[in-house]
Amino acid sequence: MPQGPSIERLLNDLDIISRFGKAPGGGYSRPAFGEADMAIRGHFEQEARAAGLECFADHGGNLHAVFPGEEDGPAVISGSHSDSVPHGGNLDGPLGVFSALEVLRFWKESGRKPRRPVTALLITGEEGSRFRKGTLGSSYITGAMTPEFIDALTDGDGQRFDALVARHYPERRRFMVSPGTTAAFVELHIEQGKVLESEAVQIGAVEAITGLTQWQVKVLGEADHAGTTPMNMRHDALSAAAAMIIEVEAAPAHVGPDSVATVGRISAHPGGVNVVPAACEFTVDFRSPDPVRLQRLGEVLRAALNGVAMRREVHLEILELQSKQPGPCDPLIVRAITSACNELHVTCRAMWSGAVHDALHFSRIVPAGMLFVPSIGGKSHSPAEATSPEDIEAGLRVLERVLWSLANP
Ligand SMILES: [Zn+2]
Repeated sequence: MPQGPSIERLLNDLDIISRFGKAPGGGYSRPAFGEADMAIRGHFEQEARAAGLECFADHGGNLHAVFPGEEDGPAVISGSHSDSVPHGGNLDGPLGVFSALEVLRFWKESGRKPRRPVTALLITGEEGSRFRKGTLGSSYITGAMTPEFIDALTDGDGQRFDALVARHYPERRRFMVSPGTTAAFVELHIEQGKVLESEAVQIGAVEAITGLTQWQVKVLGEADHAGTTPMNMRHDALSAAAAMIIEVEAAPAHVGPDSVATVGRISAHPGGVNVVPAACEFTVDFRSPDPVRLQRLGEVLRAALNGVAMRREVHLEILELQSKQPGPCDPLIVRAITSACNELHVTCRAMWSGAVHDALHFSRIVPAGMLFVPSIGGKSHSPAEATSPEDIEAGLRVLERVLWSLANP
């Protein structure tokens, strides 16, 4: 009888789905409900049914593979998303989906039966590559966005979200995450960063998922002739923006080592080689896993940008594009991850997630947690994304222990 979940079977799943959605130019492009996403969903359903699990889709198009518990009641849910960014990797999302499924297959074949029901969950549209908004499936079932809002979203061809779900899953069922339906949520995911690899640690026990705020910043100066306007008579919007960007880079150091701030996009107007720029627009993305430090970082940034605008006599406008509060992970789940690592002699460190994940929405309603496995070279959202089979196996075995302990309180 097998003593643990099968890494061979999991790697085989990942190998099978690696045929779906190969993008010309490298990596995988798997928009939600596209051909490749549907093929992954098909493989998930087929494997779940072959293992004797009940399988259904909900109104958000998420697929549930349910292992009934000895008792009825709220389920322990584990999973991740099936879609990808354009030219992404094979593991971002599917690793968490098929690891959860493998845990259930292992329990079935070894005759184990948890007290609580346990569900492997394939989540719809986390990356936002089809509907321009991300975390759609998890937002749907947690109420992070209203069903009406998500249903009415249209893709580039004008197809509505609800029409696509109805077409693929005519027998979908209503499901909402609440303490009555969901005991806990755990997501295994690749780290998508360099921390674990650089410290040669196999598992990250996530203590919090980052909060983030994004701004569109507009700097208004004065357009002037680049040859006839002396340097001391200018109100150069782009030079002012450059000084502001230096401040953005420096700001996180004033708040704490777990805060980050990034300018990712900039444009100058009117954009003539021989014209002093009249206006400049750039974005700011800043993040912290702690709500107080996130707010403090916003204040530091605002003060720094205002200071530059005053000194350089330019006008400043800050428009907030979006803001998400951080999601603390449940301490019991963090502890379950670290003790599973101890039992299995797997190295582990506490960390936070700098990327937003589906688990963030669950964390607002029920106990939620995440565990990370290392990304080679920190690469993700890239064809170069990879994780060693040994680290995948460590993640799978730790996930199995964690789900077993949560399902047998
Ligand atoms: Zn992901």
